[in-house]
Amino acid sequence: MTGPSIVWFRDDLRLGDHPALRAALDRDAPVVLLYLFDEESPGIRPLGGATRWWLHHSLTALAASIEERGGRLVLRRGAADEVLPALVAETGAEAVFWNRRYSAAREIDARLKARLRDGGLEVASFAANLLVEPWEVTTDAGEPYKVFTPFWRAARERDMRDPLPAPRTLPAGPEVPSDALDDWELLPIRPDWAEGLRETWEPGEGSAHRRLEHFADHDLADYHRRDEPSVGTSGLSPHLRFGEITPAQIWRRMHGDLSPAARKNAAKFLSELGWREFNWSILYANPDLATKNYRPQFDAFPWSWDRGAEVRAWQRGETGIPLVDAGMRELWRTGVMHNRVRMVTASFLVKNLLRHWRIGEEWFWDTLVDADDANNPGNWQWVAGSGADAAPYFRVFNPELQAKKFDPHGHYIRQWVPAEELLAPIVDLADSRREALDAYASIRR
Ligand code: FAD
Repeated sequence: MTGPSIVWFRDDLRLGDHPALRAALDRDAPVVLLYLFDEESPGIRPLGGATRWWLHHSLTALAASIEERGGRLVLRRGAADEVLPALVAETGAEAVFWNRRYSAAREIDARLKARLRDGGLEVASFAANLLVEPWEVTTDAGEPYKVFTPFWRAARERDMRDPLPAPRTLPAGPEVPSDALDDWELLPIRPDWAEGLRETWEPGEGSAHRRLEHFADHDLADYHRRDEPSVGTSGLSPHLRFGEITPAQIWRRMHGDLSPAARKNAAKFLSELGWREFNWSILYANPDLATKNYRPQFDAFPWSWDRGAEVRAWQRGETGIPLVDAGMRELWRTGVMHNRVRMVTASFLVKNLLRHWRIGEEWFWDTLVDADDANNPGNWQWVAGSGADAAPYFRVFNPELQAKKFDPHGHYIRQWVPAEELLAPIVDLADSRREALDAYASIRR
């Protein structure tokens, strides 16, 4: 009899469009479905509070849909270098499959692949979580793109993978012990700050697809107004973050049945997914994107690292600037913030308060349910001016003008900041803008 296969789940908590799972099922052998919670290996950035909450619920949903199909999800914790080979020995596995990741953690995968193959196992990894593999889209000179528009033009012309269907049934694997999810203590207990997350989200593959359908049938028709924070966008980012849905599935849906009004916006929507691809390809070429300026000119920038009162006011949404405060409160309550408002709040921190972008990136890392290794630092650096194809530094968002333009009736602000609340602004917008431009001039000299 053929020995078991192990499918190693990571940020791909789904059964549909899962090439690693498909490869295991094609071997016609018992299958061990493993999720390995690894916060120890070099190259892994430990999750923030909000993503830990999401992970707990996403694993619960995945385990349930696996059980419905006759299988079982095995949970283990520790460094992958130790846990995976130990599980291979324990189960007598003869094959291991996973879908690729593109952060610094891919070095763990490369080491394990070599080691397990040396031990005689079949090991294969698959393209699954991006539309295009970062190394497949390069300039004519074979270099990674540094600018979004030519990157996306080249990427979207490629043949896209057809998403795979989810298996109807799963074979039982060998009986091996599994950790209890609750023992990982991913959920906040004292205090339980997750009420707003529970109200806003339902993690899991089923919910991700319901959201995509709802968006395609309703909100996509208004997507040309996506810069207005009171107009709905897809809300797919945390589902994509945990791989509950794939960009290939979204791509296919956008080329399927849509109303004429929705169809007009599909290319724009897909180009936003293109930014996700772009940031992953930037991270692939720059694994230290979260800690290092992409453009080294910014190493000399006089950012402040002071995390005192002004930063706390920013985090709490108490800056006295209504659009900034609304965004930061939305983030705290729901684990997301509208994209335009993310840009405004980030610009306020790095330009009006002159704080290092990493202070903001770290706060978003802890509080966003969609925080990931590529898109959070990539976007922070974009706003700060230090990133790839970044907003020019001298473009300092004026949060009051942004509010007038994108929230003219104040619907969004009123949702988060009561009309009667009047906080004095912690900085003067015009003075601080001038100081930011002076600071920028100092590194240009
Ligand atoms: P939609 O408008 O429906 O877009 C669809 C999908 O396209 C999104 O789910 C996302 O996967 C992708 N997308 C859209 N805009 C961007 C963008 N600017 N960069 C990369 N991908 C994009 N997005 C994250 O997924 N994770 C992050 O950690 C993250 N941090 C950010 C930090 C800052 C400072 C800023 C300015 C933006 C950040 N974004 C991040 C990008 C963007 O704000 C969110 O992806 C978006 O708001 C998610 O809402 P949505 O799914 O409804 O978006």
